[in-house]
Amino acid sequence: MSPLTITDIRTILTAPAGSRLIVVKVITSEPGLYGVGCATFTQRHLAVKVAVDEYLKPLLVGRDPQRIEDIWQTSWVNSYWRNGPVLNNAISGVDIALWDIKGKLAGMPVYQLLGGKCREAAAIYRHADGRDEKELEENVRRYMEEGYHYIRCQIGGYGGRTPITRKPEGALPGAYFDPVAYAHAIPRMFEYLRSQLGDEIELLHDVHERLEPIHAVRLAKELERFRLFFLEDPLPPEQSEWFRIIRQQCATPIAMGELFNHPLEWIPLVTNRLIDFVRAHISQLGGITPAKKMATMAELHGIRTAWHGPGDVSPVGHAANLHLDVSSQNFGVQEWSGFPDPLPEVFPGCPQVRNGYMYPNDQPGLGIDINEKLAAKYPCPDGPPTWTLTRTPDGTPVRP
Ligand code: MG
Repeated sequence: MSPLTITDIRTILTAPAGSRLIVVKVITSEPGLYGVGCATFTQRHLAVKVAVDEYLKPLLVGRDPQRIEDIWQTSWVNSYWRNGPVLNNAISGVDIALWDIKGKLAGMPVYQLLGGKCREAAAIYRHADGRDEKELEENVRRYMEEGYHYIRCQIGGYGGRTPITRKPEGALPGAYFDPVAYAHAIPRMFEYLRSQLGDEIELLHDVHERLEPIHAVRLAKELERFRLFFLEDPLPPEQSEWFRIIRQQCATPIAMGELFNHPLEWIPLVTNRLIDFVRAHISQLGGITPAKKMATMAELHGIRTAWHGPGDVSPVGHAANLHLDVSSQNFGVQEWSGFPDPLPEVFPGCPQVRNGYMYPNDQPGLGIDINEKLAAKYPCPDGPPTWTLTRTPDGTPVRP
């Protein structure tokens, strides 16, 4: 029997539910044996496609797809200059597909290769928002009735939606928000929610880096009495030294990390126990291979996982998250924003969600596929995103 080799690597771009998704398909010399991986960097989808098609494919065709670690390491250093979302997402597309192939070869779901289940399903958190507190409460109650126990609460999206009335003349267009008004509104919101909903439900909030560091410290202190499950991204990665100050001031649990690229960004936060949840976008790390290492290191330091899982993670990426969730002792919670139509049709084998829990199926590999013909009916829109053109009231461009 001739040795198993990678014969082709294809990049599939599709936007069935609006978000631009990037899925990589690794095809092998064994007829019918292939794997799928998520490489979704939705804001720069074409750059990822070039990185896969023009660099990884020529590097990897002819290699043994069973050598996942070797392929990850050689892909990572082959460019010499490494890291960053484009190259990491490209590597992830291949890496996750190789885990899918290995599971198919073994006749086992990927979670078995990662050590087997240590829970039956992953607890999910949903996103509730509203124009005001009353509308938010109604949306939270709707999720509670559907069986969800963890709910992220926002008013008016990231940074709030206070009308901006004090722009200077000539202020440039952008997605304006007022960080000070936002910082005042959030403790009021949780005061209201706890008074209406009681203590049983787990509540979360995402700051999305919208505050000055000292205001993030104050907010974390003010929210301590509302016993959040976690406060997400109160600081940008560039200001991670401030996490120590938050820790010294309060016991609000902190989640961090959808922007993490490189281990040097998160190792100090984990080893010094300055955060409580690692929240990486696993394709941004480079796939299952580095995410498993991050999860294990976090476990050894008493820190849990809460992998990034919004609509701009493909269902293939959600399946990869889920196989890590059910096999990692230190799983915390899994973000999920639904699989609206036609995603389940484009991605046969989408994980099932029932009564607040997401369940993997027991098919070999990741248990998910892509219908390429159908995916082609939903082309990705061109151009840069606009929601990231964020500005504060005097017109200063800031992090989104
Ligand atoms: Mg977030």
